[in-house]
Amino acid sequence: MARAQWVGLMALIVQKFGGTSVADIERIRNVARRVKRAADAGDQVAVVVSAMSGVTDQLVKWVREASLQYDAREYDAVVSTGEQVTVGLLALALQEMGVKARSYLGWQVPVRTDSAHGKARIEAIDAAALLAEMGKGIVPVVAGFQGIAPDGRVTTLGRGGSDTSAVALAAALKANRCDIYTDVDGVYTTDPRIVAKARKLAKITYEEMLEMASLGAKVLQTRSVELAMKYRVPVQVLSSFSDAPGTLVVDEDEIVEQEIVSGIAYSRDEAKITLLGVPDRPGVAAAVFGPLAAANINVDMIVQNVSHDGKLTDMTFTVPRGDLQRSTKVLEEAKSGLKFERIASDSSVAKISVIGVGMRSHAGVANTMFGALAEKGINIQVISTSEIKISVLIAEDYTELAVRALHSAYGLDRD
Ligand code: ASP
Ligand code: MG
Repeated sequence: MARAQWVGLMALIVQKFGGTSVADIERIRNVARRVKRAADAGDQVAVVVSAMSGVTDQLVKWVREASLQYDAREYDAVVSTGEQVTVGLLALALQEMGVKARSYLGWQVPVRTDSAHGKARIEAIDAAALLAEMGKGIVPVVAGFQGIAPDGRVTTLGRGGSDTSAVALAAALKANRCDIYTDVDGVYTTDPRIVAKARKLAKITYEEMLEMASLGAKVLQTRSVELAMKYRVPVQVLSSFSDAPGTLVVDEDEIVEQEIVSGIAYSRDEAKITLLGVPDRPGVAAAVFGPLAAANINVDMIVQNVSHDGKLTDMTFTVPRGDLQRSTKVLEEAKSGLKFERIASDSSVAKISVIGVGMRSHAGVANTMFGALAEKGINIQVISTSEIKISVLIAEDYTELAVRALHSAYGLDRD
């Protein structure tokens, strides 16, 4: 209720700037000019920033050098500092341009999170103080990526988490839009570094974006898209270095001409594990995946072969590449109960996915994929599907070839 009073007829926009957009003072001034432009146009703006590019990586490195088995609370104390620098600098740059601005650290907003240090989840954002400041014409510049745990300690949200900060803030402020300025100027049909003919999408649905993000298109942090979808926050992805229109992430019914396939994603962050000679009896899958889940390892694609003799079978699945060693260790430890013969693993695999909400109502999408890959002689190791996505696991060396072939097979190439 109170919000309408403060906002009046203006739009309330959250602008988020990523690491490359604030990489040095000149770029921070560029960002300040953008913020000022929106404020001068009569919009109410709240800003969220990341650390300068490379800074968080350096901080993480220092933590690891200082302590291998580090205390996650101190990790957060260290890695959250990159954002403290950029909020202060951007507030200063805005003030230099005559814009009233002030910095906010996560705890000052406050952005309340759980206490899962290093990957905390936002539980609530109390937007009242920010709204009051904005009502006085002050632009709040909020540190992304950080929050405060119930016990008062600083938390961080996981790498890339400032996207999530921005969307959560937009939801809390009931913003009209959340603009995410990044180093790419929108969401493309696939990675333009692989396919020169990739096209920028004017609009994409939350669900498709969610698939793209979780498949490794590193435009937005996955959790930020989940939040945007849950709270129906329209998100725009655009570049701080150009004025070209970006990509709007919106509800399906706001897209008039929906393509069957919107994009091709790939992920090299995959490793394949095969358990050979697993007893074929009830409870085996639970015995395999239970310990992995307990170790917080995210299993993705799964296939279990039909056993020939009704006694032994093979089971293949994928895990994030960084978790491969831990996974095999967990499984070896569980071996006495599991009684498989052998573990084989392969980390030279890639997952290629075609994504599109149009798949729900069109047949033959999978067949086009399999045909295009066959034509290039690419072997498919594992297949998985969802309502709006088909993924295949292939040898990593064929990643580019597969992505290009699929991009043209679905008619996505720019003319
Ligand atoms: N600075 C943090 C990171 O590099 C958060 C972010 O940029 O979104 O992961
Ligand atoms: Mg980012």
